[in-house]
Amino acid sequence: MKKYRVLLYYNYVEMHDPEGYAKEHKAFCESLGLKGRILVAEEGINGTVSGTIEATQAYMDAMHADPRFSNMPFKIDEADGHAFKKMKVKPRPELVTLRLGDEDINPKEVTGNYLDPKEFFEAMQKEDTVVIDARNDYEYDLGHFRGAVRPDIRTFRELPQWIEAHKEKFKGKQILTYCTGGIRCEKFSGWLIEKGFENVNQLHGGIATYAKDPEVKGQLWDGKMYVFDERISVPINQVEHVVVGQDYFDGSPCERYINCSNPDCNKQILCSEENEAKYLGGCSSECRTHPRNRYVIEHNLSEDEVKTRLAKIAEEENTNKAI
Ligand SMILES: [Zn+2]
Repeated sequence: MKKYRVLLYYNYVEMHDPEGYAKEHKAFCESLGLKGRILVAEEGINGTVSGTIEATQAYMDAMHADPRFSNMPFKIDEADGHAFKKMKVKPRPELVTLRLGDEDINPKEVTGNYLDPKEFFEAMQKEDTVVIDARNDYEYDLGHFRGAVRPDIRTFRELPQWIEAHKEKFKGKQILTYCTGGIRCEKFSGWLIEKGFENVNQLHGGIATYAKDPEVKGQLWDGKMYVFDERISVPINQVEHVVVGQDYFDGSPCERYINCSNPDCNKQILCSEENEAKYLGGCSSECRTHPRNRYVIEHNLSEDEVKTRLAKIAEEENTNKAI
C-alpha cells in the first residue's frame, strides 16, 4: 500500500461567503499538510488534494462532519507522493466554466439520469446510443470510451455551442455523457435536457469511479485518463490497454505529454522523448527558435547544436514538400 493519496471530490450545495470560506479552508488544509487545488463558489465546492493517508483521512472526516458535505463522495487514488506543488483554494463565480449566463443550470433541479458504472457499461453497448465526451480535446486525445464522440472544442465552455451546431446527430438517441469526476456532466446533462433532448444520462462519479468498479474493471476505455495534477495521466482499463494517443510530430502511438518548450506557448502535446529532442520540445518553428526555449536551456544545448537540429528539421520538411 502506498503512503499517499489523491482525493477528487465536488458537491453542488449553497455556500454563503465563498471568499471567507476559501480563506479559512486554505488554512485548514495547510494545517493538515495537504496540497492541491480547490474551487469554492456560491453553488458549491470542487477540489482535488494530495497528502498522506492520515492527512487525507482527517480531511475527509472533517468534511463529512460538515452538514453541507456529509454525503459528499471522495474518489481516492493511491500515490507515491504529493501530486501538487502548492495548496490553492480560490473563490470563483462557477465551479466549472460553462458561462451559460441566463441559461445556467442548477444540477439540484435539473440533471441527467445517473448511471452507475455497470449501467453505463451496458448502455454504451446498445444500439441507438451516443456517448459524448464532455471534456477538452487534449483530454480525449490521450484516452476515451471506445466510440465516444469527440466534440471539436478547446475548452469545456465551448461545448454548448458545439452541440447546437451538431444536434441532428443526437436526436432520438439515448445520450450518455461522461467526464473525469462527474462534475462537468452534472451541468452539461442538465443543459441538454433544457435544450429538449429526452433520454439524457450521465456516468455517476465520472471515469474515476468507473475505473474502480470491481465488476466492470474499466472495460471499453481506451488509452489513459488525463488528470489535472503532476501525474498527468492514470490507467483506467484493468483488462486491456489500447494506446490511442498519437505523437504530435509523427503520429506514432504515444502517451507521453509535454508542454511546448516555448514558455509563452506551453501547449500540451503528446510527444516521444526522441521527438522532443529532435524538435527541441517546440510545437512550431516559431516555438523551437524562441529565445527562452525551455528545452534548449534545460539541456544546455550549444548554439551550434541548436542550429544543427533546426537544419535537420528544415531538410526533412523540404524533402516532404518535394514528395
Ligand atoms: Zn508552441
